[in-house]
Amino acid sequence: MNEHYSHWLPKLLNVTGITIMNHIFYAIPKKDVSDKIRKHEAQHVNQYKEDGVIFFFLRYFYEYFKNRLKGQSRFEAYQNISYEVEARKAEKL
Ligand SMILES: [Zn+2]
Repeated sequence: MNEHYSHWLPKLLNVTGITIMNHIFYAIPKKDVSDKIRKHEAQHVNQYKEDGVIFFFLRYFYEYFKNRLKGQSRFEAYQNISYEVEARKAEKL
């Protein structure tokens, strides 16, 4: 698992952290990364390993757009992606 801190990618996307395969990109410096967010992003690394990068992306965006079509806001649509629901559960482990 490779962690990158104070990185431009999450800043560009306006998120705290983003995981691509086994790379975790944080917008913030290492000292500011909480245990909770670390567990969240580590769960995404597991999901990529289990499902493979192509299936992960397909399912992630399929569910996002499906939720949007159901009338959910961008935030709700993101929150309700099954990978995100699972990663939020992992935060509490
Ligand atoms: Zn997430």
